[in-house]
Amino acid sequence: MPDTAFVHALTVDVEGFAESHAQSVHVEDSLLGADVNDREIAANLSVTLDLFAEHQRRATFFFLGRIARTAPDLVRQVADAGHEIGCHSLFHRRITGQTPAEFRLQLATARKALEDASGGRVIGFRAPDFSIGAGNKWAFDELAAGGFLYDSSVVPTSLHDVYGMATVPRGIFRWPNGLIEFPLPVLKVFGQALPIGGGGYFRLYPSSVTRSYFRTQMTRGTPSVFYIHPYEIGPQAPRLPGLPLMRRFRHYIRLGNGRERLSRLLRILPFTTMSDVLKRSGFLEKSD
Ligand SMILES: [Zn+2]
Repeated sequence: MPDTAFVHALTVDVEGFAESHAQSVHVEDSLLGADVNDREIAANLSVTLDLFAEHQRRATFFFLGRIARTAPDLVRQVADAGHEIGCHSLFHRRITGQTPAEFRLQLATARKALEDASGGRVIGFRAPDFSIGAGNKWAFDELAAGGFLYDSSVVPTSLHDVYGMATVPRGIFRWPNGLIEFPLPVLKVFGQALPIGGGGYFRLYPSSVTRSYFRTQMTRGTPSVFYIHPYEIGPQAPRLPGLPLMRRFRHYIRLGNGRERLSRLLRILPFTTMSDVLKRSGFLEKSD
């Protein structure tokens, strides 16, 4: 019998603030170097690991593959702390702009680098900016062929300008090729599916909205997935000059107190890695 035991999945998409936003807004080249981003990631990851240890929570960290090359010790440090290492592609570039051949090559390179750095198997993937949708469903076949067992890139909404696939189920399911999909959560409000899984939404909405959503899913015994970035937890995020007001609001709102907000969520709700949740719900074998 699967044992869902109302545990949610906790995930961190590991990337620098500037490289994270480079396809959404203009970012100066001086902010995009691996060294600049890795210094910021190291500082923010340190706070993140302390916070998770304090609450005795394990998580899945979807790392950019390039970090396993430029700062492999960060990947190893996270793996050694007992967390799962997943793949967030090689660079923070949307899959929507790639050909299947480009994606396949980046995926294989990233997975190998992450496995070498962590010393463990990498079986989970999340696309930068959740950029797998109706127009590039071939990516699921590339993931399965590339040895991945699960994906968590799909947001079942039609509201966002970059991502979304409104027609998929809202719970965990399998694609026809066997790849497991763990969609990001949405909340139905007036017939619209609002993303609510973390990141900017966690900063934008009152924190009680997120807590209430995950608590409700817990009482239903339905595991859900929360995501966040190191720069939303730790103290470091560079200022990107020249952002329009709305962009500045969206990218910087409540960036300074993420640690405390997340701490309140972790205190009251049970979270673990993606693999653990998928095993508990019977989608992965215990031996996977
Ligand atoms: Zn990302």
